Amino acid sequence: MPRLIISNIDYIVTVDPSRRIIRDGALVIQDGRIAAVGKTADFPATRGDDVIDGRGKLALPGVFDTHVHNSQQLGRSCGDEAYSGPERLFRRLWPVEAHMDKGDALCAARLAQLEMIRAGTTCFADPGSYFSAETAQAVKESGMRGMIARTVFDMGQTTMGNLPKGFFEPTDEALVRADEIVAEYEGALDGRLKAWFSIRVPVAMSDELLRRLGRLAEKRAVGIIGHACENRDEIVASHLKYGMGDVTRLEKLGLLGPNMLLLHMGWVDAKELHMLQKRDVKISLAPSASMHQAMGNISHGKAPEMLELGLSLSVGSDSAMSSNYLDAIRQAFLIVGGLHEARLDPKVLRPETAVEMLTINGARCMQWDRDLGSLEVGKKADVTLLDIMRPEWQPIHNPIANLVYCAHGGCADTVIVDGAILMRGGKVLTLNENDLYEEAQDRATSLIRRTGLEQAVASIWPMH
Ligand SMILES: [Zn+2]
Repeated sequence: MPRLIISNIDYIVTVDPSRRIIRDGALVIQDGRIAAVGKTADFPATRGDDVIDGRGKLALPGVFDTHVHNSQQLGRSCGDEAYSGPERLFRRLWPVEAHMDKGDALCAARLAQLEMIRAGTTCFADPGSYFSAETAQAVKESGMRGMIARTVFDMGQTTMGNLPKGFFEPTDEALVRADEIVAEYEGALDGRLKAWFSIRVPVAMSDELLRRLGRLAEKRAVGIIGHACENRDEIVASHLKYGMGDVTRLEKLGLLGPNMLLLHMGWVDAKELHMLQKRDVKISLAPSASMHQAMGNISHGKAPEMLELGLSLSVGSDSAMSSNYLDAIRQAFLIVGGLHEARLDPKVLRPETAVEMLTINGARCMQWDRDLGSLEVGKKADVTLLDIMRPEWQPIHNPIANLVYCAHGGCADTVIVDGAILMRGGKVLTLNENDLYEEAQDRATSLIRRTGLEQAVASIWPMH
């Protein structure tokens, strides 16, 4: 691969240890890594270099979206106006997943990754599905970086509802299948792919399954990505069945640790906050899913207190059936704006902290911060270039404030992973957009009909 130089960049937001922002900057990329970061004048291009003109652009370390269900992409809108706990999961999302075939899953993952690339995202964490192989195949094609995990449920009935047929297995079988995915995919695609273990919803998983999952993660030296404290129904269900909330249960089973990334986390009590701190557990907030599904994760959540305790927080889009879009930069605004509103305090979360959530803390949450999360010499070359010659960006005094308060993922112009260009000047180079839209519409229409959710997604206004 020739040397890639991006020069004349208006702002390089390095997120390095001193949080430098470089004006009129240049990034030099060689062999998939960042070879230099500095002023344009110091790094002139030479013959044979591939050159990107960074004029009118802001460079960010590749953006992390630490909670994305690739396989739910074709179910877009299926969770609309559903009560978050029993109705959304048990009657909408899981039945859709249970009716999918492998072709649907591959199409869904391609479309999800296309949406993320267009939103400037370079890396995602997928917290579990029965279609890990199809998600991995889409990563191979799209060029993104990501983490996959296989769903494991061993309980067909919970105090919140019953799981769809085929959506749970005997404990031993579930563990074998999940372990196979880790064995096959951890570190695959030249290190672009990680494979972890998954907790979809703790109340549908037995103590034995959770305990053994923890031991497997330790044996394989990988992490566990898990939903927890997602909504009030789920915490009530956990108390009814186990006499305690999710975090306390995971602590009692010996699962909490620095390799655990917990998602949503809106319904944590004070004692549990200290357990999270003691174990250095990582957190991914999902503000748009919470707002869309009335989960109360912002109004009742403890994100400012978690930050105060030194926990690593990132943001996730969740899925097309929950939030309903995959745009981490919009999530950054929603968590900042949501907390300003909920706490009646415009200083409770600064935009700079939100940018850390998108970058270096996203990397920390995925155990990838040695190689990713900042634009520094030696790190892997994952870069997001945003177009700032747009009305919502102008004028600029503080680019970080504009990024969080004014911008959105649709400003993404160029996306680079491992030094390879996935989108250049707004054109996605790795996936065929138009073919994908047609296939996705056909497959989604059939899937929703098979699942029996046509009424749930229909417009209440007449369509002629
Ligand atoms: Zn989720």
